[in-house]
Amino acid sequence: MLQISGITYRYPNATGQQLSVPAFSLARGEHAVILGPSGCGKSTLLHLLAAILTPQQGELRVAGTDLRTLSPRAADAWRGSTVGFLPQKLALVPSLSVRENVLMAAYANGRHADRTRADAVLEALGLGEKANAKPHQLSQGQQQRVAIARALFNHPALLLADEPTANLDDGACAVAIGLLTTQAEQNGASLVIATHDARVLAALPGANLLRLGRTATEAE
Ligand code: ADP
Ligand code: ADP
Repeated sequence: MLQISGITYRYPNATGQQLSVPAFSLARGEHAVILGPSGCGKSTLLHLLAAILTPQQGELRVAGTDLRTLSPRAADAWRGSTVGFLPQKLALVPSLSVRENVLMAAYANGRHADRTRADAVLEALGLGEKANAKPHQLSQGQQQRVAIARALFNHPALLLADEPTANLDDGACAVAIGLLTTQAEQNGASLVIATHDARVLAALPGANLLRLGRTATEAE
C-alpha cells in the first residue's frame, strides 16, 4: 500500500530546514502511526503521502503509484480517487448542511452529487439523523465524524488523519481512534495517523510506528 525509501523534502524558500523520513512500508488494511513532537514534519509527511508535495529525494509509492512520476494534474486526479484526508482543523463549511459538507468531497473530485452514498456514509457513522443539520448544531465529536464521512466518501484506499485526538480527553480519544480504525477497516482503507499524542500509540498496539524525532527536520 505504501513504501517509503528514505525520502527528503525541503520547502522552497525555507531557511535550511529539510525533512528526512526513514524507510517505511505499510501493507493494505494495516494501520500506521507517525509519532513525533510539534514541528518535526508530520503534516509535511502527510502532504507528501497525499501527493500535495513531492519529495526531492527517495522513492515514494502509494497504492501502486510512484508519486514522483505524477504531473500536478495527474496528482489531483490520483488524490481524489485514492486519498481521504481528515484535517486537524475540520474545515467544515458552516453555511452548508452536514450532507452537503460530505458531498463537497464529490464536487472536489468532479463527481456527481450522490446523495444516497452521502447518507449511507453518515448513517454508518451514526449521523443519519443529522444530515440536514448545520455543523454548528453538532457536538465536536459529531463534527469530527462529519469530517470522517467526507474523507471516506470517495472510497479512498488510504485514510490520512492529522492529529485526530488533539484536545480530546481520554474517553473521547479512545472513541475517536476506535472510530477511525473501524471505519478504515469497513471501507477497506489503510489508515495513517499523524500525532504527537502517545495515547494514540497505546490505543493501537498493532500499528506500524514511524517515529519522527526533533532531528527529522535538520538545519544544514
Ligand atoms: P508537524 O506537523 O510535525 O507539527 P510540520 O510538518 O507542520 O510539522 O512542519 C515541519 C517543519 O516545516 C516546521 O519547522 C515548519 O515550520 C516547517 N513548515 C511547514 N510548512 C511549511 C511551509 N509551507 N513553508 C516553509 N516551512 C514550513
Ligand atoms: P499543524 O497544526 O498541522 O502543525 P501548523 O500550524 O504547523 O499546522 O501549519 C498550518 C499551516 O501553515 C500548514 O498549511 C503549514 O504548511 C503552514 N506552515 C507551517 N509552518 C510554516 C512556515 N514556517 N512557513 C510557511 N508555512 C507554514
